[in-house]
Amino acid sequence: MHTSVVGFPRVGRLRELKFATEKYFRKEITAAELEQTAKNIRVQQWNLQKEKEVDYIPSNDFSFYDGVLDTAVLFQIVPKCYTQLGLSPLDTYFAMARGYQGEKGDVKALAMKKWFNTNYHYIVPELEDDTEIRLTGTKPFDEYLEAKAEGIETKPVVVGPFTLLKLTKYLGEKKAADFAEPLITAYRELLAKFNEIGAKWIQFDEPALVRDLTDADLSLFAGLYDGILPAKGTVNVLLQTYFGDIRDGYEQIVGLDFDGIGLDFIEGKETLKLLQTYGFPKGKRLFAGVVNGKNIWRNRYEQTLSTLKSGYAEEVVISTSCSLLHVPYTLANESKLPEEVKQHFAFAEEKLEELAQLKVLSEAKDATKQAAYQKNVQLFEKRRNAEDVDVKKRVSAIQEEDFTRLPAFEERESIQKKTFQLPKFPTTTIGSFPQTADVKAKRAEWKKGKITEEAYKAFNRQKIADCIALQEEIGLDVLVHGEYERNDMVEYFGAHLDGYLFTEKAWVQSYGTRCVKPPVIWGDIKRSEPITVEWSVYAQSLTKKPMKGMLTGPVTILNWSFPREDISLKESAYQIALAIRDDVLDLEANGIRIIQVDEAALREKLPLRKSDWYSEYLDWAIKAFRLVHSGVKPETQIHTHMCYSEFTDIIPAIDDMDADVITFEASRSDLQILDALQEHHFKTEVGPGVYDIHSPRVPSVQEIVTALEKMAEKVDPDKLWVNPDCGLKTRGTKETKPSLVNLVQAAVQFRESHSGEKL
Ligand code: GLN
Ligand code: ZN
Repeated sequence: MHTSVVGFPRVGRLRELKFATEKYFRKEITAAELEQTAKNIRVQQWNLQKEKEVDYIPSNDFSFYDGVLDTAVLFQIVPKCYTQLGLSPLDTYFAMARGYQGEKGDVKALAMKKWFNTNYHYIVPELEDDTEIRLTGTKPFDEYLEAKAEGIETKPVVVGPFTLLKLTKYLGEKKAADFAEPLITAYRELLAKFNEIGAKWIQFDEPALVRDLTDADLSLFAGLYDGILPAKGTVNVLLQTYFGDIRDGYEQIVGLDFDGIGLDFIEGKETLKLLQTYGFPKGKRLFAGVVNGKNIWRNRYEQTLSTLKSGYAEEVVISTSCSLLHVPYTLANESKLPEEVKQHFAFAEEKLEELAQLKVLSEAKDATKQAAYQKNVQLFEKRRNAEDVDVKKRVSAIQEEDFTRLPAFEERESIQKKTFQLPKFPTTTIGSFPQTADVKAKRAEWKKGKITEEAYKAFNRQKIADCIALQEEIGLDVLVHGEYERNDMVEYFGAHLDGYLFTEKAWVQSYGTRCVKPPVIWGDIKRSEPITVEWSVYAQSLTKKPMKGMLTGPVTILNWSFPREDISLKESAYQIALAIRDDVLDLEANGIRIIQVDEAALREKLPLRKSDWYSEYLDWAIKAFRLVHSGVKPETQIHTHMCYSEFTDIIPAIDDMDADVITFEASRSDLQILDALQEHHFKTEVGPGVYDIHSPRVPSVQEIVTALEKMAEKVDPDKLWVNPDCGLKTRGTKETKPSLVNLVQAAVQFRESHSGEKL
């Protein structure tokens, strides 16, 4: 048997690429220096994979920013506004990725979207009607030859034409199919060039195949490859799919003239069934994605070997389920986790070892006699020490009625209107205020033990007091404490929950130079003591206005962590929900009357197939949220907040969360979501963000009034709130105050003009 890696992380073991790129952005190093760092990373990783005897080592999986953007640039899919800047190729590329503002002009970045069901973001290519698709780039060839010069034969990886067309945004009249012909020509040239330079295999990534496919999609796919594959010459073509199975077109897809087909056995629930039902074409290689590219737990050899031995294909290649981009580099960087814990984990480099061991085991006469196998079996037999009987009992005791808050929404709404007596179009913010340098510095000092806990708390109390004074001066209606004590909305809660583990350097690329360090759900989750109560109560004591309690919701906490694999996501979500519920009830008992439970990442893990939306996810995700707040009194107002307004398609589910108020990001999506809210008779009160906090621009009063006017056309004015579109923690103080002053001013004007009320 052979082994294959779909793709390797690329930011560098210690994020060397990130730091070099940021230095380049700040003009502290030259392009040549940046290129050198990149080359070092590539060469080091190829050598590592070679050492681990990977047979199909990827190249061109490296990227300075994003692989979809690389592919667009390769085929000259570059909007004119970027080429017109007259920058170097590298700078044009970065201008597309992050915008450009300077002496040569002022252009915004291309849009960025979540890469399927991951927390990685890709850059959305744009096609204009007159875009001429042509193979003009050389990156895949350069990197293939670069590896070859090191004595390493690689399998170049390129995003496939179908996925590229599906992810592209069409600015003119033309649609995907209209670009098929030039794209076929360009991919044929790509194959011809690889023939010329002697590549043996090339991998086309087509994750778009695991989504729901229409007949038109399938014929587009078949048309593309019927056109492209005849040009392959002596190069073998691997069709690589991942993040699910290809049930909608399996027979047709595997019947095309590919030499290898990569299928995902981890997230592809029906992959085995498809093989059972339809078999696998003779003469082709099955690249079996059995080593999870998305999670960090050790592979279970017993199960994997039985999958590999199921005998559907003559030639099976043991592969990762998707690119290893989604896991951290190596456990070698973790000096604080005990060995006992670490033995359960496999990051990218350890996964290479797993591939190697699986190769040996699958060739062994009796794998069960091998030491590596036995060690693995023992690992899974061992109970983890973080099991908690009480938590398990509490989850199994949950009753259906625990998911329902009473009385029903309408009754609560009128009770709350009387209780709070807020003006029409109440103003508020999403929670955090600027995390200025002093805030970060104090936290760092405290973490290093340079100042006492009490000194750190005193500092934060002063920050809160200032923040409240500022909000009162500005005239906001519902106040927040500012979240100064939090570094990150998930990590902060994870650190206060039993069952969570933290890593030191386990960074995963989120987009471009941005990485996240997701915590690990290691055991059963329990809140050992109140998390937010002290801060919120202190903040409320400083003002007569309502102070919002501020919590992160269970689904977001779960989605931004590495989840367990030994219990279901639903079970973990309910465990977290119970912990957060306890904090909600403690806040209420301590006089906090408005409580916001953020579900910024709820949309993120929505299954890729519509048919799975409810059964696989929303059913428990919505319930987990409801469990958090079902125990509060009718007069306690529950808010939630979501980022990315791309939830137009799940509006009924969001209403079903049964919050009293939801604020969300809307300012960048032209308020389209309002139509959907209107259409679905959305009952929850709403605060669609009136300005974009991702930019330092100060919105004018008039601009905000205009946004509010649009909103009030679609949303019942009695349900409309006025707020920015996300937390302010990444903003500076300089723009924050004038922006909020204008926001309040706009609300006041709008109230007057809207109701004739004089205030
Ligand atoms: N309450 C959080 C904040 O204001 C919400 C952050 C988010 O939605 N990403 O920072
Ligand atoms: Zn947000």
